Amino acid sequence: MSLFQIPTHPDVPVIGESQGYPVRRIFCVGRNYADHAIEMGGVPDLEAPFYFTKSPAHLCLTGATVPYAPGTSDLHHEMELVVALGTPAFRVNKDDALGMVYGYACGLDMTRRDRQQDGKDKRRPWSLGKDFEDAAVIAPLTKAADFGPVEKQAITLSVNGDTRQSATLDLLLHSIPAVIEHLSQYYHLGPGDLIYTGTPAGVGAVQEGDHLHGEIDGLTPIDLTIGKAE
Ligand code: MN
Repeated sequence: MSLFQIPTHPDVPVIGESQGYPVRRIFCVGRNYADHAIEMGGVPDLEAPFYFTKSPAHLCLTGATVPYAPGTSDLHHEMELVVALGTPAFRVNKDDALGMVYGYACGLDMTRRDRQQDGKDKRRPWSLGKDFEDAAVIAPLTKAADFGPVEKQAITLSVNGDTRQSATLDLLLHSIPAVIEHLSQYYHLGPGDLIYTGTPAGVGAVQEGDHLHGEIDGLTPIDLTIGKAE
């Protein structure tokens, strides 16, 4: 018996299943496409991936209209492939890592770019830039066996019908097995853990009234409408 009730976050629908995928944790990979690392003023780093996290409370399902986020004047879209784990994974080998994947989905890593830049400038954490309400948007999951191997599938994002981001999944600097192997050195990964795998170039600002539409070949598309600021 808890002291009080708190809001719950939704399960992620799974194509072909009546039950949803419950989310425990949300990990995000930073700068995982070379052209995006460069557009952010960085240098592609092949040594090791780095991460930030988002609270599952900040999960948002595709199709929503969300208020323009408070505390920013530079809200950005980042279109990403999301990996959902289905098996415990601690200190796993790259060769075994794909066996831990439950499924894949389209995701949007919504970002307060100005607040993220504050963090970079002041060498402080990125929480205000990355971890806020409705900042982890996700579409229904497709099971790994139905999606098949991650190869050269197209990943695109349009805003009001204009293409902003367009790349292919083979351009990931750190492959999905490499990310799982690396992250599993630090966490007991397992069912309920999502990994947002990074965004290609073309990130940009959204405005009130914008409609975002993202696609990855073989997955359910993702849609988000930006409503009025509160
Ligand atoms: Mn991202």
